Amino acid sequence: MASHIVGYPRMGPKRELKFALESFWDGKSSAEDLKKVAADLRASIWKQMADAGIKYIPSNTFSYYDQVLDATATLGAVPPRYGWTGGEIGFDTYFSMARGNATVPAMEMTKWFDTNYHFIVPELGPEVKFTYASHKAVEEYKEAKALGVETVPVLIGPVSYLLLSKPAKGVEKTFSLLSLLPKVLAVYKEVIADLKAAGATWIQFDEPTLVLDLDAHKLQAFTDAYAELAPVLSGLNVLIETYFADIPAETYKTLTSLNGVTAYGFDLVRGTQTIDLIKGGFPSGKYLFAGVVDGRNIWANDLAGSLSTLHALEGIVGKGDKLVVSTSCSLLHTAVDLVNETKLDDEIKSWLAFAAQKVVEVNALAHALAGHKNEAFFFANTAAQASRKSSPRVTNEAVQKAAAALKGSDHRRATNVSARLDAQQKKLNLPILPTTTIGSFPQTPELRRVRREFKAGKISEEEYVTSIKEEIRKVVELQEELDIDVLVHGEPERNDMVEYFGEQLSGFAFTVNGWVQSYGSRCVKPPIIYGDVSRPKPMTVFWSSAAQSMTKRPMKGMLTGPVTILNWSFVRNDQPRSETTYQIALAIKDEVEDLEKAGINVIQIDEAALREGLPLRKSEQAHYLDWAVHAFRITNVGVQDTTQIHTHMCYSNFNDIIHSIIDMDADVITIENSRSDEKLLSVFREGVKYGAGIGPGVYDIHSPRIPPTEEIADRINKMLAVLEKNILWVNPDCGLKTRKYTEVKPALTNMVAAAKLIRNEL
Ligand code: GLN
Ligand code: ZN
Repeated sequence: MASHIVGYPRMGPKRELKFALESFWDGKSSAEDLKKVAADLRASIWKQMADAGIKYIPSNTFSYYDQVLDATATLGAVPPRYGWTGGEIGFDTYFSMARGNATVPAMEMTKWFDTNYHFIVPELGPEVKFTYASHKAVEEYKEAKALGVETVPVLIGPVSYLLLSKPAKGVEKTFSLLSLLPKVLAVYKEVIADLKAAGATWIQFDEPTLVLDLDAHKLQAFTDAYAELAPVLSGLNVLIETYFADIPAETYKTLTSLNGVTAYGFDLVRGTQTIDLIKGGFPSGKYLFAGVVDGRNIWANDLAGSLSTLHALEGIVGKGDKLVVSTSCSLLHTAVDLVNETKLDDEIKSWLAFAAQKVVEVNALAHALAGHKNEAFFFANTAAQASRKSSPRVTNEAVQKAAAALKGSDHRRATNVSARLDAQQKKLNLPILPTTTIGSFPQTPELRRVRREFKAGKISEEEYVTSIKEEIRKVVELQEELDIDVLVHGEPERNDMVEYFGEQLSGFAFTVNGWVQSYGSRCVKPPIIYGDVSRPKPMTVFWSSAAQSMTKRPMKGMLTGPVTILNWSFVRNDQPRSETTYQIALAIKDEVEDLEKAGINVIQIDEAALREGLPLRKSEQAHYLDWAVHAFRITNVGVQDTTQIHTHMCYSNFNDIIHSIIDMDADVITIENSRSDEKLLSVFREGVKYGAGIGPGVYDIHSPRIPPTEEIADRINKMLAVLEKNILWVNPDCGLKTRKYTEVKPALTNMVAAAKLIRNEL
């Protein structure tokens, strides 16, 4: 009975690790306290998997911050500015790299493939000296062994480690990261020897970069690396684990002929074409780890469907222990344990499986494959699948019809953007270089208290509305005082830009403990979209009209766009993502039109997460961009020319999707820019024609630093060098909700001053 788990969430069922970490960072508890919480979590996870009957249980998938940073520590690849002088890397150096310290900022963080998890990007230059500086992998292996649990130690594979790194400052253009391979492998050899000596019989290398479009040179690095490691690996079973997408056909050939490797792990949930590659030929005598249980979602597995996939694979690999039932990727990307969901009703709960439940599913599949099917468990699963299919809560005929009616036709506003901008300007009468902000204003503890108490029924609706209106009035007055041109209401009624809408739309459910690690101790709690989405009633009109009534200046209505709502939720797996997005788009469209009717002339539809949903494989990107952009256009196709539609996007890497951004056909886009060293502007310099309004952020809101007026003016001038003055807007990078008023006031004062300074020069 062969079962395997790729990796497991570290935070704990109630975010125990988060609280232990934050208390340690605040100096409220000791390193020993933190280590104790961590050890208890590891022990309970191992025990849970062992009790469930999992054969290949992972170790070294725990992390105090991030598994890639752990690999950096193992390799001793500490950037010199952290002043590490050798020896075993301790909390000081480790957390300085992760979070920065009083004198040195943190290392860069970036998204882990197309997930919402962020890893710490290794920074490697030609002079980096790799040494075996963290024995965490072998320590965790021994720790589990002492508890009576035999584990498979997991390491980030050496080639993926290098491909995910960035060249150190100063050598960006010239340095080949892969040239470091021999030095990195020297340390890997020591780690492997250590694990072997401790008694390990299996080892797992996570090489997820294998699902990307790799050129021949990079593929060759895999061949070279494993050939070099083969002698040390001999005597061990070696699993190369891949996840998040299909394996490209060329890569499959390279992968299945690697030296010294005995097992291959594939994501068969996202990688449905990989099954065809396997059917076309799988090396005899090797193990196949079949990732049939989805590590990225919260739905119960279709056990009957998975079992038939497994039977088909058994026909290729052969009966016996060579076919191993596994998860599609680490369970890090799903919620932890359904038992802690006290607020979900039983029907919805029966449709779900979080990490703890997925472990049981993997085991049940392995048993069934070996001829010991737990009939009762399978029966209950079939019943739950059927109930989900037929539940009236899932299907809404009217929504299905409306979404189906969208098919085959395009949705675009009737006039082109320059004509619309002219019509809008007649109504709005804005100065050149208009100033605005992205939406939220600081969220004070007082504000959070009001929302919490209203939710808990401790204050009346009337009291709540009064407090929120007061807050809006303060924000409006402040913006008038600062002389900002297009105002926002500040979003004081919102806890989160997706949750706020999800709570008011049908088809969404919310968890109490469904947290997923985002970075370090930070977690997100994505809503669950389980049914057809509709909007029972207006969601923002009340607040936006109240805000507009407080000022003569234009007040932006503020909505979250369909693609962002989708990308930041756990989504249905019983229909394509595009289908769900179109449904959300129709709901947002109704809201847009209601805002317009209520006299709101400027409406911002945030698509903060449009870029991050971009598929990993180039071959799939055009299709995604096509429906995502279409869904956005659906939201505002029905408004008059005089209604100005804004959108906002976070994350600086848009250059590859600039044509899709233009195709969104918003009247104005505000876009994060100030941390990306003008990457964005270079697109326009290279001649991309842009006719809509655009506000590349003039200062970084992620930092408490107050940008001086001259610095902002300088930035605006740089923008004017590549963009027409009549389309340029002046605004910060993103919402201000995480900042303090003591930072926001002076920063915006300088921003407005800079805009005026340049207006006078034009
Ligand atoms: N309107 C939102 C805000 O200002 C946008 C947030 C975001 O882009 N992440 O908070
Ligand atoms: Zn943003």
